[in-house]
Amino acid sequence: MKRAIFPGTFDPFTIGHYSIVKRGLKLFDEIVIGIGVNQAKKTLFSIEKRQDIISQTFKDEPRVKVSIYDSLTVDFARSVDAGFILRGLRSVSDFEYEHNIADANRKISGIETVILFTDYEYSYISSTVVRDLIVYGKDISIFLPPNVKL
Ligand code: ADP
Repeated sequence: MKRAIFPGTFDPFTIGHYSIVKRGLKLFDEIVIGIGVNQAKKTLFSIEKRQDIISQTFKDEPRVKVSIYDSLTVDFARSVDAGFILRGLRSVSDFEYEHNIADANRKISGIETVILFTDYEYSYISSTVVRDLIVYGKDISIFLPPNVKL
């Protein structure tokens, strides 16, 4: 069984994240979406709300599980018996960061990170942009996975 975690903050979970999970299901038997508790980051949505939205999104996909974790990402991966970390890469600005954590994670745990390039139509979408639009009362449904309401 090939299992990967897809860790992130997902504040909120966008169609870009959704696309990475759907594509990841072609590579892995199971994906555990891990919502990291990040004390330093102030989020717009509570962790329970984020978990609820992601669980609803994948309610018909038994190969996707959703968990909250409050530990090092590699320790979370081990705790769910996952051998891989799945991440998405939008642009060169993501590259340096993803490269660094992937190297560090492999060094401390041997766990490999598998990075998928974002589908070009989603490469400009970020949780930050979606949050800004929400704060100003804009309709953001086109940036969310199909049939998701916040
Ligand atoms: P983090 O706080 O760990 O960066 P995010 O929720 O922002 O968490 O992102 C989780 C993962 O999803 C990261 O690998 C990020 O690069 C990727 N990601 C974010 N937005 C998109 C997008 N539009 N398309 C593809 N991948 C994305």
